Amino acid sequence: MKKYFTDIFSGIWNLLKGMKITGKVLVSPAVTECYPEKRDELQPKERFRAELTMPHNENNEHKCTACGICAMNCPNQTITVKKSKITDENGKPKIVLDQYLYDIGSCIFCGLCTRVCPQGAIEFTNNFEHAVYTRSKLIKQLNKPGSKKVEVAKPAAPAAKPAQAGQNEVAAPKQENENKQ
Ligand code: SF4
Ligand code: SF4
Repeated sequence: MKKYFTDIFSGIWNLLKGMKITGKVLVSPAVTECYPEKRDELQPKERFRAELTMPHNENNEHKCTACGICAMNCPNQTITVKKSKITDENGKPKIVLDQYLYDIGSCIFCGLCTRVCPQGAIEFTNNFEHAVYTRSKLIKQLNKPGSKKVEVAKPAAPAAKPAQAGQNEVAAPKQENENKQ
């Protein structure tokens, strides 16, 4: 009989302990986001890595040289760089980017690719909505159709040093003057 009542009181006691935690959470401020109902109010942090992108300028040009360093450093083989060799207008061989493929389904968002890119050609954005019905749609081509690498103006050849020529011209009569003395 004693055990019977002990079990009842023990059960009520444990129930009250649970209700205490429930009541505490009930009156605390919410820490979860109401999604998708309040999608417009969501403000992901700027440093949040959600999706790799390749920025293009208004002329549909990007900075990628198709060197493949990002793909080599990716720990998950998420990036595929397809390139080809062409001959430019000066008759010189040139590597151009055909397709820059990014499989967001296998990306671990470590950010190594953006760190190692010598051109700063890729970056992460905050777009976190990637729900699709088939995995193949998670593979994205980051270079836009018809895009090309932006041409960087080569620095002009260093001009002749007039100052030095002038120095020589001045130096000669100085020596003559010194000899006269
Ligand atoms: S963030 Fe990491 S896993 Fe994702 S593509 Fe870049 S290097 Fe690969
Ligand atoms: S994104 Fe950067 S590292 Fe990757 S292939 Fe292009 S230039 Fe090279």
